[in-house]
Amino acid sequence: MPDDLHTLFASAAARVADHRLRARTGPVAEPFDRDHVLHALGALDDEGIAPSAVIEQLVTAIEPALVASTGPRYFGFVTGGALPGATAAELLTVGWDQNGFSAGTSPASALVEEVAGAWLKEILGIPADASFGFVTGGQGANTVGLVAGRHHLLAAAGWDVEKHGLHGAPRVRVVATSERHATIDRTLRLLGLGTDAMEPVTTDAQGAIDVDDLARVLDGATGPTMVVLQAGNVNTGAFDDLAAAVPVARAHGAWVHVDGAFGLWAAASPTRRHLLAGAALADSWATDGHKWLNVPYDSGYVFCAHPTAHHAATAYTAAYLVGPGAQPQRSPGDYVLESSRRARGFATWAALRELGRNGIAAIVDTCCARAEQFAEELDRTAGATVLNAVVLNQVLVGFGDDDRTEAVIEHVQRSGEAWMGGTNWHGQRLMRISVSNPLTTTADVTRSVRAIATAVTATG
Ligand SMILES: *Cc1c(COP(=O)(O)O)cnc(C)c1O
Repeated sequence: MPDDLHTLFASAAARVADHRLRARTGPVAEPFDRDHVLHALGALDDEGIAPSAVIEQLVTAIEPALVASTGPRYFGFVTGGALPGATAAELLTVGWDQNGFSAGTSPASALVEEVAGAWLKEILGIPADASFGFVTGGQGANTVGLVAGRHHLLAAAGWDVEKHGLHGAPRVRVVATSERHATIDRTLRLLGLGTDAMEPVTTDAQGAIDVDDLARVLDGATGPTMVVLQAGNVNTGAFDDLAAAVPVARAHGAWVHVDGAFGLWAAASPTRRHLLAGAALADSWATDGHKWLNVPYDSGYVFCAHPTAHHAATAYTAAYLVGPGAQPQRSPGDYVLESSRRARGFATWAALRELGRNGIAAIVDTCCARAEQFAEELDRTAGATVLNAVVLNQVLVGFGDDDRTEAVIEHVQRSGEAWMGGTNWHGQRLMRISVSNPLTTTADVTRSVRAIATAVTATG
């Protein structure tokens, strides 16, 4: 007998609410028995089971292994916890099961992306006529931004890269700092440019680009060139000086891509916007939805100042897509790397409506203020040393030596009081604190610092 749909979906939503409410005050993560979880997931059987039993088993089996990353004391990976409205919209997205590929597969998805895309450009300070794509995240956004750049540069050099590939093509140079995000390297691998195409530029102590060195590297050679700049270093939060770097790159005819996976959101805050001066003159921009905007995972955005290049690099056509009924609207699938996909616009639209301009600014300002509080309280904590200039939401902390630091990180994670990850930065193992969730209160910061102090004592 089929389960009643209302009961089934309501019960799933109720479990989501339970999990998220527990995350507010309860442990962030707890030790669990891996084999126990695997065993509880059962074996593949010949016969299926009722949907309600499926849900019951899934929740019971994996609950111990869930990370309460939606809660206010999770500080890992520059990711927050999805907002309530955005999460509810995501539940609808899944339930509606729309194929976000085109205006034909889901008019609703295409229309919502059109509206949300325009709002995003306004908030992020990106030119209104830029093209955009709702991608999977920062990786997807960097890949699409650079594939558009590859098209643009090689077309200008008289080379049809979509037709001929890179065999015999003019060499494309890529210029970026050693502090670029690893997703840039993966993009170069995927684009066939290879990581050897990279010409490194030095940085200052916080990981921001040395603009004189950028000029030196660009002066050193000719040919199609991409310059990858960063708004928000994944360790320190530092911003490249875009007002100085973008004009230097443009003067050399380079395609300028800005990786602003979380840093681009500083544009929403009147007090932090200055960090992005000059960003609007870039050719392409990448940012995440699932980091600072706090929408559910699998959400990023790419923007391009050259819509024709963007479209030429990523669109395709097929016999079943053309015909008398072909629609004149923007087709979302032409600007991303997937064909059939989740309708990503609903959750983003919901987050932007839920927050408004002031709410987005408040996320940025609140998280930055909490990061400053972390730095101040940790400075007063024996054994802890804050190692970066806290300009945004990132705090790097050392505890004497690498082994001790690793032990402190593990101790804090095991305590369930807070969750911070580790990073390797300038030859040292460090604790990395990312404040990305506006739920984090000043009391949550103090409680988390106390957990760190306890770990310092316990590992001494
Ligand atoms: C997180 C991050 C990325 C990658 O984003 P994903 O959403 O994880 O793919 C790229 N660049 C920077 C600067 C980041 O912080």
